[in-house]
Amino acid sequence: MSAIRVAVFSATHWDREYLGRNSTEAYQIDYFDEPLNAHTAALAKGYMSVCVFVNDVVDTQVLQILADINVSHVALRCAGFNNVDLDAAKAYDIKVSRVPAYSPEAVAEHSLALMLSLSRKIPKAYNRVRDDNFSLNGLLGFNFSGKTVGIVGTGKIGSALARILHGMGMQVLCYDPAENPLLQDIPVRYVPLNTLTEQSDVISLHCPLNNETQHLINHDTIAKMKRGVMLINTSRGALVDTPAIIDGLKSGHIGYLGLDVYEMESELFFQDHSCDIIQDDVFQRLMTFPNVIITGHQGFFTAEAIQEIACSTLASVKQAHQGFTDPDAFLVAG
Ligand code: NAD
Repeated sequence: MSAIRVAVFSATHWDREYLGRNSTEAYQIDYFDEPLNAHTAALAKGYMSVCVFVNDVVDTQVLQILADINVSHVALRCAGFNNVDLDAAKAYDIKVSRVPAYSPEAVAEHSLALMLSLSRKIPKAYNRVRDDNFSLNGLLGFNFSGKTVGIVGTGKIGSALARILHGMGMQVLCYDPAENPLLQDIPVRYVPLNTLTEQSDVISLHCPLNNETQHLINHDTIAKMKRGVMLINTSRGALVDTPAIIDGLKSGHIGYLGLDVYEMESELFFQDHSCDIIQDDVFQRLMTFPNVIITGHQGFFTAEAIQEIACSTLASVKQAHQGFTDPDAFLVAG
């Protein structure tokens, strides 16, 4: 049987390393630095699968181009799929797979890293000590133990975080339209979103981005939060209305903000812009606050997770062209 030809878009050196390391003669993989979009989709001519990441564009126009050049499978090497028009994929008979669970702990642990870095002001402390400044002024933190965390979305990542934070002595409030039975062994309490918003000292977002959750955090929800609340978003940028967050930070209503994702991140993240003039004034304003930490969508980025992503993506590619499609991995199975 001839090898399955795969075009990997937005390819990084770790994609090359981990997909290459786990590939066999069953695959012929080519890597493109370019993101997939309407301008680059024609590069996939001659390939059976395209492999994409979080900021690639897989809308109707792109899917139509892919269908015209006989690409029959889009393999997302990530969990979220808000960048794919699934209805259009169905209409063009293009299969779509994702990596449903590569390492929820990787993202949960990154959320914790943001929380602790914010509360104990680690970036400021690190810079100070490097400058031989051992003053503790301005570094007063707070204990998480005894505080209340609200977790919005208790799927794989949210539930992993719930376990960690319960272990740290926090009360865990959860909001999710579908309660997770796997959380029954720890004393979490499912409450309406309003209750979670009003009672939590820390709020962490772990639900998918869709029409219902877009700008879930907005002026109205911020107004209901405790003054000085810590807000963490490692899920998708558009879950929060960024100008509303900036107002909340300016008024002091939001006391701490940790972001791994940003609504307009596709213009910035995963690239070195250190010599550029950043044109995004909203992002630049966010960066001016001393109580904000932003990382560039690295929650998933552990060796364990990248290995799992590579293996799972390659398995989906094989399945897409051999008939069997795992219902957990395939969003559109053809
Ligand atoms: P999951 O599907 O296991 O869990 C999502 C949960 O959200 C489900 O329990 C679902 O019922 C719930 N949900 C749906 N609508 C909701 C709503 N309106 N309000 C509250 N909860 C709602 O997904 P997961 O693997 O836990 O991933 C969660 C999100 O994390 C993904 O959608 C993705 O956007 C993001 N993510 C980010 C990174 C990163 O590197 N920062 C990596 C992986 C995933």
